[in-house]
Amino acid sequence: MQMNDLIVKKRDGGALTTEEIQWMIRGFVDGSVPDYQMSAMAMAIYFRGMDRRETLDLTLAMLHSGDTLDLSGVSGVKADKHSTGGVGDKTSLVLVPMMAACGVKMAKMSGRGLGHTGGTLDKLESFPGFSSALSLEQFYENVERVGMVIAGQTANLVPADKKLYALRDVTGTVPSIPLIASSIMSKKLAAGADVIVLDVKCGGGSFMKTERDARALAEELVEIGKMAGRKTVAVITDMEEPLGLAVGNALEVREAIAALSGERPGELMELCDTLGAAILTAAGIASDETTARAMLERVVADGSALRKLAEFVAAQGGDANAVYHRNLLPAAPVQLAVPCDCNGYVNHIDAGGVGMVSMHLGGGRATKDSEIDLRVGVVLRKKVGDAVKVGESLAVIHAADEASAAKAAEALKACYTISEEKPERAPFIKGSVR
Ligand code: URA
Repeated sequence: MQMNDLIVKKRDGGALTTEEIQWMIRGFVDGSVPDYQMSAMAMAIYFRGMDRRETLDLTLAMLHSGDTLDLSGVSGVKADKHSTGGVGDKTSLVLVPMMAACGVKMAKMSGRGLGHTGGTLDKLESFPGFSSALSLEQFYENVERVGMVIAGQTANLVPADKKLYALRDVTGTVPSIPLIASSIMSKKLAAGADVIVLDVKCGGGSFMKTERDARALAEELVEIGKMAGRKTVAVITDMEEPLGLAVGNALEVREAIAALSGERPGELMELCDTLGAAILTAAGIASDETTARAMLERVVADGSALRKLAEFVAAQGGDANAVYHRNLLPAAPVQLAVPCDCNGYVNHIDAGGVGMVSMHLGGGRATKDSEIDLRVGVVLRKKVGDAVKVGESLAVIHAADEASAAKAAEALKACYTISEEKPERAPFIKGSVR
């Protein structure tokens, strides 16, 4: 086989055979298929797409490129959750303890942030001492004992995705449905859970800009999960504005703790309840949606989900006191309110732009080796549909110094569109695929 022939075949709209896909991924991982040919293939797939059989073959070829986790020794139902990536997305920090408090074992391998989207591991490192680098033995032990674990991906879990994602990131080939679906599902299948719930983001702050594309991706993800024998549910959610109020690592952890303490209703809890109910019903722990939602409400109201977060933080070496005393979390020395300069209603907030503001403050990585500042970010005071008056604060910038705060305030103002009319709010949960 010649890689050049496969590139030409895909470039001209042909379908690659199972053997061709397996050969290509094997060669890419062992180095016999060079990066420049794989980049050309990624671009051909970006323009020509793949049918479902090809996407499944690509997923399975990537899945078998490295180790897989075997959770069969862990008792009970094992579940995993994945988001396609958004701004202010602290859902895992809230949902995973809620699930563990309901008796579902949550074994999650997470990533770090890149560009304007945040990563759960970075956020968790806001707890002094917390470590996401666990041995496999610790990983299994913690899922069994605590009921939840969130760790970094082991080096040899789906190495094909690691290599391919790094190429896609710099060749304009991230937003392709077959490439995203195979990337996500190869990792989720390798992580071994029985139930997989996927949060597919849709809108300006995410990879899928339209609801149509988000639904197509959701359908592809669920079909692949089903064909691989896992219970898979996808929920399509809005990412036109950041999720919740905080964007930035320690700030998001504070918001997550507040949510688990029952302080913050709103769309963050709406999302956690929707994803949580999908897991509980798919896992057979709740007989229906109403029972599932009642269970979720109870674990927040009785404090057991918050205690689970503390237990998990301690089990991974972190200071669990910070769960109950948020002043122990890192805090930025400078806080600057961003005043509104007209009257009206918030019509739109550019989620990607807010993510960039947080990144430039030091809260995200410009390159994969950048150091991040856990303290900094943005807390929104006004969201889409809210009325605003001249001088009222749209948001508060949390910064390392006055100069970066002033620059961020200007950039943040530009993320807000204010109109005279109150805008219609599109539904936050746009649908689900089972
Ligand atoms: N998340 C992933 O893991 N892979 C993608 O390709 C996009 C989002």
